[in-house]
Amino acid sequence: MKRLVIVYPHGFCSGVARAVATAEALLKHFPGETVYCLNEIVHNRQVVERLIGMGMVFVRSVEEVPAGARLLFSAHGVAPHVVRQADARGLRVIDATCPFVTKVHAEVRRFASEGSRVICIGHRHHEEVIGVAGEAPGHVVVVENAAEAEALALPQGVTVAVVTQTTLGQAQVDAVMEVLRRRFPELRLPESTDVCYATRNRQQAVDRLARVCSRVLVLGSANSSNSMRLVETARAAGAAAELVSDLTQLDGLRWHDGQAVGITSGASTPESFLDDAVAVLCSRHNFSAPERLEAVKEQAQVFRLPAGVLETR
Ligand code: SF4
Repeated sequence: MKRLVIVYPHGFCSGVARAVATAEALLKHFPGETVYCLNEIVHNRQVVERLIGMGMVFVRSVEEVPAGARLLFSAHGVAPHVVRQADARGLRVIDATCPFVTKVHAEVRRFASEGSRVICIGHRHHEEVIGVAGEAPGHVVVVENAAEAEALALPQGVTVAVVTQTTLGQAQVDAVMEVLRRRFPELRLPESTDVCYATRNRQQAVDRLARVCSRVLVLGSANSSNSMRLVETARAAGAAAELVSDLTQLDGLRWHDGQAVGITSGASTPESFLDDAVAVLCSRHNFSAPERLEAVKEQAQVFRLPAGVLETR
């Protein structure tokens, strides 16, 4: 027999729950009408495939959406020029951007309007960072790691501020901040941290999990930033950790008797996927009924659905 330990909290965060509920509400309230979504509503294949099955059409650009149609913006947010493009096409926009991402957009606007150059710590090709940087083109520079922070060339005498992608690993942020604080002693910071509560809690939880389980499975998609950070956090804590994005992967893994395997899921991974993974492990791979590890007490915020969800035509 092998032990299975599920850590809490895991899975959906407030922003993802709101975005998914928004998508479902639109499909329910506007039957017979095609509802479009710009980019993946959240970075999770199971969620996106389920919404496609319910009739949602995912697009990569505003130009793909017929004039006048209803368009949903994903939890990751968009740059202001995308909003203007949608307006120009007469699209009826529903904005499911997570309020924590909206907060970072507001910080960028404020810092830039005060004349600061804004350093955004994050992954430059991630949709959230593209949207944030688009708030003040020419004022924002993206830095992915400490080496880039070290190499950054900014004009002499300029005021420098910093914001952060919401789903980064704490170690990555700390490493970059150490360089930035040394190089820019007058560095301006947001009033509160940009890395959101869900990201921090899930990382702290998986860190504890990795200290009691030699192996950790992180359920999530490869393009999910917070899921990938959970894999890194578990490895940094000493566990062998891997991302599981498809249940068929579980049958290809090798297990050892007596092994304790920890399980968590990213903030965009539906609980049904975790339930299915546990069922596969117990029924096909001789794991005992899962134990619970309550690692972090979480007070999740409940966000109201965005404007436009329940409007009538
Ligand atoms: S991970 Fe954090 S910032 Fe991203 S959607 Fe969830 S609550 Fe919002």
